[in-house]
Amino acid sequence: MQYYSLNKKAPLVDFKEATIKGQAPDKGLYFPEFIPQLEKDLVNNIEQISNDELAFRVIKPYVGNVIPNDVLLEIVSQTINFKIPVVSVSPKMFALEMFHGNTLAFKDIGARFMSRCLGYFVKGNDKKVTVLVATSGDTGGAVADGFYGVEGVQVVILYPSGKVSSVQEKQLTTLGKNIHALEINGTFDDCQRLVKKAFTDEELCSSLFLTSANSINVARWLPQQFFYFLAYKQWQDKNNAPVICVPSGNFGNICAGLLALKSGLPINHFIAACNANDVVPQYMLTHQYQAKQSVATISNAMDVGDPSNFIRILQLFDNNFQKIKEVFTSVSIDDTTTKNAIIEVEKEFDYLLDPHGAVGYVALRNYLIEHEGLQGIFAETAHPVKFYDVVEPLINRKIPLPDGVGAIINKMKVAQKMEVNYDDLKQYLLTLK
Ligand SMILES: *Cc1c(COP(=O)(O)O)cnc(C)c1O
Repeated sequence: MQYYSLNKKAPLVDFKEATIKGQAPDKGLYFPEFIPQLEKDLVNNIEQISNDELAFRVIKPYVGNVIPNDVLLEIVSQTINFKIPVVSVSPKMFALEMFHGNTLAFKDIGARFMSRCLGYFVKGNDKKVTVLVATSGDTGGAVADGFYGVEGVQVVILYPSGKVSSVQEKQLTTLGKNIHALEINGTFDDCQRLVKKAFTDEELCSSLFLTSANSINVARWLPQQFFYFLAYKQWQDKNNAPVICVPSGNFGNICAGLLALKSGLPINHFIAACNANDVVPQYMLTHQYQAKQSVATISNAMDVGDPSNFIRILQLFDNNFQKIKEVFTSVSIDDTTTKNAIIEVEKEFDYLLDPHGAVGYVALRNYLIEHEGLQGIFAETAHPVKFYDVVEPLINRKIPLPDGVGAIINKMKVAQKMEVNYDDLKQYLLTLK
């Protein structure tokens, strides 16, 4: 498999190059040259195929021959080594719980897969690789956990001061070793801008081997397809394909779902559920893409004003707006509605949503009201305890901490504070060796 840049001004690369580079030299996102089509038996006999084999067969065409089969099988097996259950919530609605990994959010899948691929690729290199990443909350923890202790790789994480939850902050500031946290006095968009600038700084890139672990990296984006295959595998009514609703920020997760759909996975429709950051819902109404400043909401991992993966969705449908609309809807849900949903669903169905899952729940519920006869799955992208600051006051009780998190809360935060100043970041990176 070869990957081209969506800006079309960079050479084709294989999976290894695309993973190491992150972004193409012309600043475009990498995109596979063609969409592999699933073998019929994979869909028809999906219940008989083990999770490891399923994930291996899904990802193999994208990886090609740059990782030997036995190594790749080991990597996918380590990537999905936690449960990803489809749980019944209400008569027509199911939650796909993506949060049972180490950092309690769906990003563990992408981060685990990417870190292991990169670890394999840099084995024996004498130059250290520096992974540079901006996080609005969950990416940082997942990347930190995924890369922790991986030989030959340093990780630098930028996060917006005061705008991530305390559990999220602990997850990215308490590991140490090869993981470094920068607490930026600004917004997530500021962090992302600083990171983007570093990648285009030729002087910096000639002295450091820089790569990104943001959701634009193909090695993070592509394995997220596993969620949708595992969901379909567990789906009872195979004659009535599910609607799937994904709480979306940078649109990497849902874009992986759409890729799975494009390669032949039977999904009825995709809904991208957004919070007040409604660039894509507005696009779907007006056919005009207008990036905005992000605004802070209670589902902070989706506070994105210029979703980086959306361009990949356009490409998947050859930029044909009509074709996109047939299988893709996007809506914006406000914080009040989201909070009410958390309270109601806990009362009525005894299921505790996190703020992101709650946005997905509301969007799916509304869609199913308008489209009779369908059933659906919403992605529960994080464990509610990750956002206890928001959820506990709504339900008037404490959410018990799962084991890993309990330990982390008492660890000491180590982060370097920094203003939104590119020269400071550059200095930091150059002296970090
Ligand atoms: C990152 C994140 C999202 C948004 O995912 P994208 O792939 O960026 O659209 C949603 N929910 C949670 C909990 C997240 O961490």
